[in-house]
Amino acid sequence: MELFPVPDVPEIREGDDLAAVISERVDLRPDDVVCVASTVVSKAEGRFADLDDFPAGPRARELAARLSDVTGDEKDPRFAQAVLEESVDLVMDEPFLLTETRFGHVGVNAGIDRSNVPDHDLLLLPKRPSESAERIRAGIDADRVVVTDTCGRPFRHGQRGVAIGWAGMAPSRDWRGESDRDGRELGVTVESVVDELAAAANLVQGEGADGTPVVVVRGFEWGDHGESDAHFRDVDGDFVRQALRGWTYEP
Ligand code: GDP
Ligand code: MN
Ligand code: MN
Repeated sequence: MELFPVPDVPEIREGDDLAAVISERVDLRPDDVVCVASTVVSKAEGRFADLDDFPAGPRARELAARLSDVTGDEKDPRFAQAVLEESVDLVMDEPFLLTETRFGHVGVNAGIDRSNVPDHDLLLLPKRPSESAERIRAGIDADRVVVTDTCGRPFRHGQRGVAIGWAGMAPSRDWRGESDRDGRELGVTVESVVDELAAAANLVQGEGADGTPVVVVRGFEWGDHGESDAHFRDVDGDFVRQALRGWTYEP
């Protein structure tokens, strides 16, 4: 398996046809997986915003004041308002905002970016990243597309790529019912293939000024394994998230 960046991708602007941008620069094969940073998907979809677009309501003012208190950094209530408007659930409200986006992804600040955003204050995540992935897929020769974002994770330092949208493939490979080398049947292993591909792609995409938002994964084979549609956990089956209910930060 190899990964390589699509060369010479320009600065992406609202209305750009990402599928055309990609197809003009690389000869794709049907079994390639094309991994696209959400940043450029958002840019193409015009998900730019400015703080002034989000006049803060009482809840946002309250959240920002509390965050300023516990972190010692002045927090803009308009930013808190933007996060609330992008979210369906507030998982943690201190010492940072961890929320569930409208499409089911849990991330700090609803994944709103303030870097690599020319001429605007903010870049919101794509509204429905799997639909974005499907639109890109329809315009290129590769059959599989993953939309990635860079996220932190609990328990470990360091950020890495995760999949927030996908098309042309199931998100997970289901090993349950297969045997290990000693003939013991696997009971729980559902492998998040789209996250693994996103993490690998993120290594090549870079985080700063690299300018390589699209990475092709060539030679990845699903193999003779089952599929699972599971990706984002429901609250009901997420015991860590349940444990966070009522949790407070002691500065
Ligand atoms: P995120 O992980 O989706 O939030 O995106 P990042 O801000 O980490 O950017 C991922 C990669 O895409 C980095 O190499 C950036 O330099 C690059 N990038 C971001 N926007 C553009 C763009 O409009 N054009 C090009 N060519 N590269 C971009
Ligand atoms: Mn991002
Ligand atoms: Mn990134």
